[in-house]
Amino acid sequence: MFIKKLAITAVAGAAFMASSAYADTQHVVIGTGGQTGVYYQVGGAICRLVNKGSKDHEINCTHKTGGSVSNINGMRSGDLDMGVAQSDWQYHGYNGTAPDKFPEGAYKELRAVFSVHPEPFTVVARSDSGIKTFEDLKGKKVNVGNPGSGARATMEVVMEKMGWAMGDFALASELKSSEQAAALCDGKVDAIVFTVGHPSGTIKEATTSCESKLITVDNGVIQKLASDNAYYDMTAIPGGTYTGTDDDTVTFGVGATFVSSTAVDDEVVYQMVKAVFDNFKRFKKMHPAFAHLQEKDMITKNLSAPLHDGAVRYYKERGWM
Ligand code: GLU
Repeated sequence: MFIKKLAITAVAGAAFMASSAYADTQHVVIGTGGQTGVYYQVGGAICRLVNKGSKDHEINCTHKTGGSVSNINGMRSGDLDMGVAQSDWQYHGYNGTAPDKFPEGAYKELRAVFSVHPEPFTVVARSDSGIKTFEDLKGKKVNVGNPGSGARATMEVVMEKMGWAMGDFALASELKSSEQAAALCDGKVDAIVFTVGHPSGTIKEATTSCESKLITVDNGVIQKLASDNAYYDMTAIPGGTYTGTDDDTVTFGVGATFVSSTAVDDEVVYQMVKAVFDNFKRFKKMHPAFAHLQEKDMITKNLSAPLHDGAVRYYKERGWM
């Protein structure tokens, strides 16, 4: 009995110690994207580097799925501290220029931290679908993406510019990014549309599980869209990135960015940024989409919201600003 009592006291003591350590630790949650996209890898890589130093800075990082629009809204509602978001949706979130996506209007507390990899607007069609050009999507079964994702939101922008409505497709499915490759190869849809970095798990799966290829997205409407908006650019997905597409695929694209808000302490953002850039060679090896990243581009390009003060502190320390 005595022994049992002692054991209980010891357990209670340990629990107390654990909870007081827990209370000191700052828990940072990053909103990313589906498991087969690249955002999920961005969140995973940042958290791995941050959590290596948890003993010193007492920051513990976790990440969860989401998508650009839901990540920005999630930070605003306090569910997330940081997030990965496309440059176009960072712009609209900060400026309040897309009220259907950000009903609360301009989110002036949004802060840029750094930009990451390029994300071309990527269309993959099954070879037996008869889709040869982007315009051929009309009348076909197309996965336009799930609401909350930046990919879906950008598809809506493109559709509006092209004069297309959802009803112009034989089917407009709203599958999540992790589900769309299987849907393509099972014949549930003829094409998938995904704004994503390369190489990505989704596009690899879509181009190896069945015969399919990347479709060029280049016409007057798209070129005008890219030239009219600073957060878009014409780009190309290099030939040979995926099975079945040996030539470069011209399309337009955005940049993936890492964002936070003024609600997150400068010290936390400073430590997160430091974990990435003090270990930058390692970071770049954590996913092939990061291989070509350059520090100077990451702190200047594709950022429409002001930089977070914690990030600025680190960039100044490094003499980058
Ligand atoms: N760009 C996509 C989005 O915002 C996510 C891409 C990814 O998961 O890597 O929804």
